[in-house]
Amino acid sequence: MKRRDFLKIAGAVSVAGCAATTPSKARVVVIGGGYGGATAAKYIRMWDPAIDVVMVERESAFISCPLSNLVLGGSKSLDDLTRSRDGLRKYGVQLVNDDATMVDATKKVVRLARGGDLAYQRLIVSPGIDFLFNEVEGYETAMNSGRVLHAWKAGAQTVELRKQLVAMKDGGVYVLAIPTAPYRCPPGPYERVCQVAHYFRQAKPRSKILLLDANPDVTSKGPLFKRAWEELYKGIIEYRPNQKAIGVDAAAMAVKLEFENVSGDVLNVVPPHRAGDIAVKAGLITHNNRWCDVDWRTLESKAVKGVHVLGDATLSASGMPKSGHMANSQAKVCAAAVIALLNGREPSVNPVMNNTCYSFVSDREVIHVASVHQWDAAQGTIIPVKGAGGVSSARSEQEAAYGWSWARNIWADMLA
Ligand SMILES: Cc1cc2nc3c(=O)[nH]c(=O)nc-3n(C[C@H](O)[C@H](O)[C@H](O)COP(=O)(O)OP(=O)(O)OC[C@H]3O[C@@H](n4cnc5c(N)ncnc54)[C@H](O)[C@@H]3O)c2cc1C
Repeated sequence: MKRRDFLKIAGAVSVAGCAATTPSKARVVVIGGGYGGATAAKYIRMWDPAIDVVMVERESAFISCPLSNLVLGGSKSLDDLTRSRDGLRKYGVQLVNDDATMVDATKKVVRLARGGDLAYQRLIVSPGIDFLFNEVEGYETAMNSGRVLHAWKAGAQTVELRKQLVAMKDGGVYVLAIPTAPYRCPPGPYERVCQVAHYFRQAKPRSKILLLDANPDVTSKGPLFKRAWEELYKGIIEYRPNQKAIGVDAAAMAVKLEFENVSGDVLNVVPPHRAGDIAVKAGLITHNNRWCDVDWRTLESKAVKGVHVLGDATLSASGMPKSGHMANSQAKVCAAAVIALLNGREPSVNPVMNNTCYSFVSDREVIHVASVHQWDAAQGTIIPVKGAGGVSSARSEQEAAYGWSWARNIWADMLA
């Protein structure tokens, strides 16, 4: 944390061992400065400047997972997807570059790794995902050896996977194994093989891609992806549904399936996910040891009062993808609800959220899926609105322009 930031929030942070001081104004603490957390922090300050907002984020800069597959394809670098969070300061969001290690919901404090507690009236937790490494035998050993990567959080692993693809011999095999849904970004794996195939077609035309999908079929934009594989990458991508990775052997460079082992030159195994670690520590997990159920009108946790959960960490409602766009949309519903609750008003009884996801099937052509989700009082949950949304009729360069506009707009919406 920089000195000036520390001074700004000094009233809320106590030295280790002392109790957190009670803030004089209403204070919201946000854990996580990604698609959900940064949006919520900014919108609370924009819509009610009387509320103090402190956002705790462990990483120094924001790196977007959306578009990170283009780094693997070679048309973009990680720098193209990296943004500063400093723009949030002009809205009065107080940024703390630290790790939130514990939440005490009774005392209403968040503990920081570098020492000190942050007191809150309402807490918003948007930590993204962590991985269930132990569900894939041998995974941690393989990952620690550097020979098997997931690259499912944009950053160092994305760059390393690109290096492995570049170093791979022409005629080699890249294996991507993906877990059973729900996982972060349903179309992400299918976009990833398009990007790698795009690179192979140009640089290593004898190479192959094996996509091992634990799901029975492509989980998003299926016909559009399959058409791209057939028309753009025929003979490069082999798609195998119902193939769940249960282990990895880094020494043999093999992925273990139920009935066989599959070997490759680059192994990209994405383990099953759950809500980020802090959600576990805060007692927010309600479902299957993985996800956090919320009241979709406020995003308030069903397990811990006064704590709201956003984004990938939530137990997704029917038809709701784990996406950056969805986290951004949830964050606005949550921001409005938190402001209402802190001001003694009823939150909206009819929240609406939406999603759009653009997938780059090459460096120039894109497909999209869109959906709208609305609170249904009879069912007591949020459901897809019939007839709203849909998918592209065909891949196109025009949609690539829309895809880049989407990225620039959503990064500005959350950070600038
Ligand atoms: C390859 C790929 C492609 C994708 N493509 C798209 C796409 O095209 N469109 C789309 O909408 N979505 C896409 N996604 C999904 C999108 O990235 C996620 O759904 C989105 O990031 C979820 O937002 P979030 O706020 O839940 O989590 P995140 O954006 O991951 O933010 C969580 C933040 O919390 C921080 N954090 C976690 N725990 C702590 C702690 N204890 N203390 C401090 N900080 C903490 C993390 O450092 C992180 O910055 C893609 C994902 C991948 C992997």
